[in-house]
Amino acid sequence: MKNPFRPKKPLAELHFHLGQSVEPHILWSIAHEQGIKLPHKDYWEFYDLVTLNKENVTWEDYHKLFHWTELIQSSPVSMERTVYEVVSGAYRVNNITLLEPGFNPMFRNRAGERDLDQIILAALRGMERALIEFPQVRAGLIFMLDRRLPYEQNEIVVRKAIKYRGRGVLGIDIAGPLGEGFKYEDYSRLYKEAQDAGLKTTVHTGEDGTAEEMAHVMSVLSLNRLNHGFKAYSSPKLLEEIRKKDLTLCLCPTSSLRLNFFENIDHMREVTQTLWKSGVKFCMNTDNPSMLRTNLAKEIALMRDNDILTEEQIDQTIQWAFDATFMNKTNESNLYL
Ligand SMILES: [Zn+2]
Repeated sequence: MKNPFRPKKPLAELHFHLGQSVEPHILWSIAHEQGIKLPHKDYWEFYDLVTLNKENVTWEDYHKLFHWTELIQSSPVSMERTVYEVVSGAYRVNNITLLEPGFNPMFRNRAGERDLDQIILAALRGMERALIEFPQVRAGLIFMLDRRLPYEQNEIVVRKAIKYRGRGVLGIDIAGPLGEGFKYEDYSRLYKEAQDAGLKTTVHTGEDGTAEEMAHVMSVLSLNRLNHGFKAYSSPKLLEEIRKKDLTLCLCPTSSLRLNFFENIDHMREVTQTLWKSGVKFCMNTDNPSMLRTNLAKEIALMRDNDILTEEQIDQTIQWAFDATFMNKTNESNLYL
């Protein structure tokens, strides 16, 4: 008899952050293993510290939550376990057979105290361990740049991504709240250089910003995919541009709802259906599954249960996620199939 708990359809997930993807009890265990002094002795207080459990969350509150998860993950041993747990857990819980987690190595080195190469190699080891145990899975890492970091530090992240391209690093992304002096145009050359070196590129845009800002980002960065990007729904011209460039939007419904970028479910339905009618490709993702207490199956159920997408439309978005992968024959990481 088939195990009733085994999820049916294979799924792909392209937009989620390692820092907020590790279950609280595993983070708790890693923190103790590392001898990190936590602000709480009680597990449930720690649980509240690393999950989003308040009703009205500000953009600033949200980014403060990253502090503890990033600190706990800031060593080679914890990075190896983090990536291993995320990749293997995604397959066991949601039948995710293709996944591309993102993280910023600069936020895992305790401000330069740890060696970046050791952190990156540990992350790759964790991924390899998961892939050898679950050979049905394909995975690769995306290195995140941050809008709060100076250009020089972001440039180092890109150099490392290029260096480890053949080892399972697939591409680069930019995220984080807007820092002083940050300008997308400063990154045009670096994005082009990454693509010329065989990496793929995406960026967080069209979530907290406006459609105009998104149009600007798309005009100065050479892109292969977009994270969020739903603000384009208000601009037929921008939707046309996304379609012409064949960019897939990696949406995160719960994340955008909790952060009030969607006013409510009705607003989310209107946006999603406008995107569908425009012919722009999009897929569902979790962004920060552990922090938001969600997973990919729940995100898909949210679409289904609120009549946002039909079953056929959902199947199409799952296919679009597989089609938009950054993996190809030259950077394929799973050698165990
Ligand atoms: Zn994100």
